[in-house]
Amino acid sequence: MAEKFDLVIIGGGNAGYIPAIRASQLGMSVALIEKREGGYLGGTCLNVGCIPTKALLQTASMLHEFKNGEEFGIKTDGVEFDYPTTAKRRDQVVNQLRRGVAGLMKKNKVQVYNGVGSFVEPKKIKVALNDGGEEELEAEHVLISTGSAVNTLPGLEIDHEKVISSDDVVNENEHVPESVIVLGSGAVGVEFASMYRDFGAEVTVVEILDRIVPLEDPEISAELEKQFENRGIRVMTSTKADPESLDKSGDGVKIKVESEDGEETLEAEKLLVAIGRKTVIEDLNLDATKVETNDRGVIQVDEFYRTGEDSVYAAGDVIGGYWLAHAAGHEGIVAVEHMAGEDPLPIDQNLIPRVTFCRPEVASFGLSREQAEEQGYEVKESKFPFRAIGKALIEGEPNGFVKVVADAETDLILGMHAIGPHVTELIAEGVFAKLVEGTPQEIGMSVHAHPTLAEVIGESAMAVDGHAIHF
Ligand SMILES: Cc1cc2nc3c(=O)[nH]c(=O)nc-3n(C[C@H](O)[C@H](O)[C@H](O)COP(=O)(O)OP(=O)(O)OC[C@H]3O[C@@H](n4cnc5c(N)ncnc54)[C@H](O)[C@@H]3O)c2cc1C
Repeated sequence: MAEKFDLVIIGGGNAGYIPAIRASQLGMSVALIEKREGGYLGGTCLNVGCIPTKALLQTASMLHEFKNGEEFGIKTDGVEFDYPTTAKRRDQVVNQLRRGVAGLMKKNKVQVYNGVGSFVEPKKIKVALNDGGEEELEAEHVLISTGSAVNTLPGLEIDHEKVISSDDVVNENEHVPESVIVLGSGAVGVEFASMYRDFGAEVTVVEILDRIVPLEDPEISAELEKQFENRGIRVMTSTKADPESLDKSGDGVKIKVESEDGEETLEAEKLLVAIGRKTVIEDLNLDATKVETNDRGVIQVDEFYRTGEDSVYAAGDVIGGYWLAHAAGHEGIVAVEHMAGEDPLPIDQNLIPRVTFCRPEVASFGLSREQAEEQGYEVKESKFPFRAIGKALIEGEPNGFVKVVADAETDLILGMHAIGPHVTELIAEGVFAKLVEGTPQEIGMSVHAHPTLAEVIGESAMAVDGHAIHF
């Protein structure tokens, strides 16, 4: 007989395991289905995304610091980079967190099934168990959180050897390529470009749009391009790669790219495809439900993450949006609170921080000046440089800036855009200020310890009305 649950969640990433905990706190009985081999929870983020990449980037950043040690009075001759040890440490971090998530499921009495979940009916889910056999589960509610997977261009097959994806980079245990072409300059592309450069590779970034990190403020794109080029990363924007020209006959790969300057054949040991991701819905048998998707396979939901089927919700990458782990987790929480009859507030998309962990880091939330003006706001904006912040000079990181965008009529914060040291951490203050409807003046009134990098947030906020002190 089918086991009954208040909630069955399909997919154990951030949009699955986090709401599972919240649902359990709300007194619901919860089943969580995850198909990953080994039954590991945490989804893309923990297994092949946020966590392993940032573990690798940590080594990249330390290597950079050691190599620049002489400026700080540290003789660093003989510093050696040992990639297999870096990879081992990456796996240790991942494994520790995997154990942590498994422990949280036990603590919260979430019943975990290792297998593929699919709909039989809107309230009946079949699990094809990984170790054979099948289970049927009945559910008052279902949350779909099946996430996303690597995507590629038509005609460009990922062979995991010469043409690789982010999954291949984070599963590599032995070898760092001597040269890499990175196709695509979104967060994933620029993070890996930055990492490979710090690891000593020749790196070329190819972007079809006219600027890298194209979803960020244009000045941030320009600054990142400048800093990448200073580091010896070749950046090619408004440049289109031709998958049909791919030539793998030699030691590495060759591919033709075309820009306004004409055609050129790029050559490298590996071609990393980082052009975006696609939703994972193929196993779900959505035809057994009224759940709707758009033409890109993105599940359509309302502001509480309800699909076209009343009892079925969806959250995370599978519903599109920012494709970020923290957004996925929050969406899932709102979904289960709503199905439990709580009264959650819909998530304001302008309060979701966007973070990119290349060197220099990039972080932002809310609207850029251009976007705010398009929406009819009268805008005031500041730009405060890190070089005027003592701690940035102490750390040897004087490049970059923070911009604050505010509504000239109400003084409310509309957005923040930052590039420079640790901005992925610093952005949290701006998000909180916006959440509580704070103004730039109030950020400025909150006393920032000295000398800290956080002073850049206070100064950039005060600069909105021309009251910055150190610039
Ligand atoms: C290289 C890389 C780096 C990233 N870095 C960051 C970062 O630094 N910060 C950040 O916020 N975001 C980052 N992201 C994005 C982040 O990983 C995703 O936004 C996040 O994982 C989405 O969570 P999710 O739960 O929606 O989906 P996923 O994490 O993809 O989880 C979905 C899970 O569902 C399972 N599944 C799918 N279909 C079924 C089925 N039918 N039955 C059972 N199980 C199923 C999958 O196996 C998977 O484990 C990164 C992504 C990549 C690729």
